[in-house]
Amino acid sequence: MKAVYPGSFDPVTAGHLDIIERAAKVFDQLVVTVFANPSKEPLFDLEERMYMLREATRHIPNVEVDCSTGLLVPYVRRVGASVIVKGLRAMSDFDYEFRMALMNKKLDPDIETVFILTSSQYAYLSSSLIREVASFGGCVTGLVPEMVERRLKEKWPVGNRGQGEHGGNATGARGPNGPHGTGVV
Ligand code: ADP
Repeated sequence: MKAVYPGSFDPVTAGHLDIIERAAKVFDQLVVTVFANPSKEPLFDLEERMYMLREATRHIPNVEVDCSTGLLVPYVRRVGASVIVKGLRAMSDFDYEFRMALMNKKLDPDIETVFILTSSQYAYLSSSLIREVASFGGCVTGLVPEMVERRLKEKWPVGNRGQGEHGGNATGARGPNGPHGTGVV
């Protein structure tokens, strides 16, 4: 059975990787799809996010990385999958994910959404928190793959830190997006 794990992955975190590794054990094939959201400006562009995901999932043979935009359900059909995988953290994820899952079910009753519960050590980990901490020069070791940590440091070189995401560097810093960004995807 083929499943799609959608998200912004801006950038991929250890929490995402945990879900990917576990989902890859459950499903024959897992497509990790970076969804471009026109309403928010990412820190890392689509190519960078896909590259980091590919590097971070290189060791898992049944995982492929893709990108898309717009509605999730037609995309899932297009790639020949029948399951949407979502990670669930705190209760704050639940309300949003519940609504999205019901809407997606209405759009295509044959596609199931499967939730995988976060591992406790990643329960409070989000890409937005990583961006925030990294922008102030905080240490994110162990919370993101090493290569992501290096790229975050490039976004905020030492002299440029301490200004948060609004710090106005030349590499696309932006304001926080709130907890969710993938819409009905
Ligand atoms: P974020 O909310 O971190 O910006 P995304 O929009 O990229 O993340 O999320 C993609 C999917 O991964 C969503 O289903 C989200 O709930 C899940 N996810 C994100 N971080 C974690 C985590 N630490 N543990 C479990 N699931 C997670």
